[in-house]
Amino acid sequence: MTARRCIAILGAGPAGLSAALWLRNLGFDPRVLDAADRAGGLQKLNFLANEWVLGQPGQTGPALAARFVEHAGAAGIRIQTGIRPQRLDGVAGNFHLRQSDGATLDCAAVLIATGTRYRAAEVFAGVAGIEGVPADRIAYGPHAFADLAAQTGQRILIVGGGDNAYENARLLLPMAASVFLAMRSRPRAQQSLALAVAEGVATGRCRVMHPASVTAVAKGAAGLEVTLAVGDRSERVVVDRIHVLAGYQPNTAFLRELLAPELFAALRFDEQGYLRIDEAGRCAPGLYAAGDVCNPRFPSVVSALAQGAIAAKTIEMDTRTT
Ligand SMILES: Cc1cc2nc3c(=O)[nH]c(=O)nc-3n(C[C@H](O)[C@H](O)[C@H](O)COP(=O)(O)OP(=O)(O)OC[C@H]3O[C@@H](n4cnc5c(N)ncnc54)[C@H](O)[C@@H]3O)c2cc1C
Repeated sequence: MTARRCIAILGAGPAGLSAALWLRNLGFDPRVLDAADRAGGLQKLNFLANEWVLGQPGQTGPALAARFVEHAGAAGIRIQTGIRPQRLDGVAGNFHLRQSDGATLDCAAVLIATGTRYRAAEVFAGVAGIEGVPADRIAYGPHAFADLAAQTGQRILIVGGGDNAYENARLLLPMAASVFLAMRSRPRAQQSLALAVAEGVATGRCRVMHPASVTAVAKGAAGLEVTLAVGDRSERVVVDRIHVLAGYQPNTAFLRELLAPELFAALRFDEQGYLRIDEAGRCAPGLYAAGDVCNPRFPSVVSALAQGAIAAKTIEMDTRTT
């Protein structure tokens, strides 16, 4: 197949793989590169059943991710993992993508589907004593949902006030000794989760603190002594573990180095660093994006699949020669 039919896809999550399938069906040669050692995207870290994908009841995140990868493989799509795109030069219809393994891909268009990553240790920048907390006492992002049964009888501080933080609290409340939720602004969780946490508050096993931020952590005989600024007071809670569910940020920083200056200059980002696209998935001539990296209103597997499909169809229309 010629370079004119080759489309580079950065990211092998639901958005990238869906775009690849559609492109394949539309007669293209999609090449998927993923920096991670395994394809599948964020769902590889969703340890719970994902009940939000029509036709896939009871699938855990890793099972769903494996199905997507298997389907793409069965369709003959080439997926390379552990590979980073290093430099993109050229123009729409004639791009050259240098990869971290030294190979160069000549392609007509590039789709960016690099998703997001969870906020981790940077959340505690400047917090006194944080470096002395053993790694197995802090869980970041999806890891806060791993092996929940092991948290039976534990006292847990959850940092964050969105759906993920409240979902974590809801799941922990039946088994944990106590759950503290600390968030910088007002709670933002969906109503069903807020109601579940409110029940925990009513029974005295849960406490919600806002506006609150952790200022210091010390390892004491009774557990982790966490000092928080809560409004204009200082409070201390003693816990066994800290779960950080402080949101996600887009994987777009690499684009500044990847893209030749004239290509980078054509991209637009929102104030949080997400890529701006038009309603058909275009970022700039020959450059497209899909999935969580574009800050969809409701980030999810199905919206990523749909955006991948839309971008693929747009590429097909934009590259027509007749
Ligand atoms: C714990 C958890 C639970 C979730 N539960 C649900 C749920 O129940 N239902 C639901 O619908 N959604 C759920 N989501 C959200 C869902 O997983 C995402 O919305 C979806 O995965 C987004 O797909 P994506 O392809 O845009 O991005 P991702 O899945 O993030 O995939 C992006 C891919 O790009 C790769 N990448 C990143 N940077 C580079 C780079 N520079 N070069 C090459 N590759 C790169 C990454 O390795 C990754 O494989 C959950 C998310 C998490 C974290």
